[in-house]
Amino acid sequence: MTSGLVIIIILFALILFAAGIIFWSTLNSVVDLFNHATRYRFKHLWYSVFSKQGLNIHQREILLKNFTYYQKLDAENKWLFERRVRTFMGMKEFIVRTDEFELTEEMKVMISACAVQLSFGFPGIFFRHFYRILIYPDDYYSTITKKYHQGEVNRGGIIVLSWKNFLLGYMEENDGRNLGLHEMAHALLLEDAIMNGEFEFLDGEALEMWEELVVHEMILIQNGNSIFRRYGASNRHELFAVAVEVYFEQPLQMKQYSPRLYATMSKLLNQDILALAPVSQAHL
Ligand SMILES: [Zn+2]
Repeated sequence: MTSGLVIIIILFALILFAAGIIFWSTLNSVVDLFNHATRYRFKHLWYSVFSKQGLNIHQREILLKNFTYYQKLDAENKWLFERRVRTFMGMKEFIVRTDEFELTEEMKVMISACAVQLSFGFPGIFFRHFYRILIYPDDYYSTITKKYHQGEVNRGGIIVLSWKNFLLGYMEENDGRNLGLHEMAHALLLEDAIMNGEFEFLDGEALEMWEELVVHEMILIQNGNSIFRRYGASNRHELFAVAVEVYFEQPLQMKQYSPRLYATMSKLLNQDILALAPVSQAHL
């Protein structure tokens, strides 16, 4: 065999190999188009970049009737809030978990508004990792923990809520308890830690300050001297979720209890609940 022929055979084999790779990756891309994750990415792009609409009258009425945070915003921020609620609502898949229980517009609007309330200081953040919201009518039994739960945040991208307890959180607004904000707080911390387009948006300095405060606060809770309920001492993540509930429902008490804690929470969430304005909407 001449050396020319060997080169031709090697070249031919290489071309065949490259064509195989191109074919395989194209095939995978086509299959991927139908994947949930890819559809979600398209939805995310559509709602966050191209769709600039607010809510319809019916949806706005739900907020005007039930959502104090929205009611307290000025006209411009109301509009921003609505747009973000609509974006969040359009991006997520809402599913109810029992047959006799129907998904309503109120559930979608209220749960989306809760997420936007917590993330209002971060214009580009829509909890991207969390694509599905599961809603149970009441406490639900978990076969994993063998216990009844009111809500949870699953690392796989699912937020679970009991509707009855979610509503209670917004009906009793000053008791420092709010299931929706609690679960969204877990989701916010996870979102910040997961490497995607919404990665490390929380202020690093504020996070460090928070970590310092946590150590001290855990001891205070265990001694019964903290503003936070005992459950907050379970671990750092629960303490953050409990602190978010108190920040939104008893901000004045929190500020009086510890101005440093209040300032840290405001910096972490990039909003000041007592002034009810996002610190910066610069990325809009
Ligand atoms: Zn929790």
